[in-house]
Amino acid sequence: MRVRRVAVDDMGRVQVSSTKPVMSLARNLTIRLPDWMFAELDLQSARRTDEERMTLAIEVARRNTEHGGGPFGAIVVEAETGSIVGLGSNLVVGHACSLLHAEIVAILMAQAGLQTYTLAGGNYELVTSSAPCVQCLGAVYWSGLRRMVCGAPLEAAEAAGFDEGPRSDDWKEQLARRGVSVTEGVLAERATDVLLDYARGGGILYNARVRA
Ligand SMILES: [Zn+2]
Repeated sequence: MRVRRVAVDDMGRVQVSSTKPVMSLARNLTIRLPDWMFAELDLQSARRTDEERMTLAIEVARRNTEHGGGPFGAIVVEAETGSIVGLGSNLVVGHACSLLHAEIVAILMAQAGLQTYTLAGGNYELVTSSAPCVQCLGAVYWSGLRRMVCGAPLEAAEAAGFDEGPRSDDWKEQLARRGVSVTEGVLAERATDVLLDYARGGGILYNARVRA
């Protein structure tokens, strides 16, 4: 099967072009966390402080780059106990999916593990090694999370070459109005180092406008 693309040029002429063959239409999608996460990380210990939680998110980001992934890590934690209920690293390249940012994966896994489409029934927070892009910001709105803790600032991800998308200047106030508080800059320097080391090492920049 070939896909035909129809476009209208500046003169109003219709142009039809054929793109490369499509093998099949996908019917399902499996998202799998890498085995190294469960082999190499301490996921059982409670993480009681923001710093302890961020240390794990940064470790996920760092190790993900060592295993060929993107430089982002995130966890979902039960706020009172510090239990880890969701874990995510950037899986964009390996899963051929532009949506699988670390924050998205951590939220997906938390909801899958807790068997709920909203985390609003508990007191859960997302701890992410890097401030969220426009997509992940949207996902936090719908997730039922109560709080988000960020490491590296948006500028650090952009300095590394990632496009984080347009966000309103009042994004934190907008989240607060929906019951999600935000804490920024936790272990920001260590989190930023992961991004910059990735860029220096020539890691893939998987932006929508950069061809693979
Ligand atoms: Zn994102």
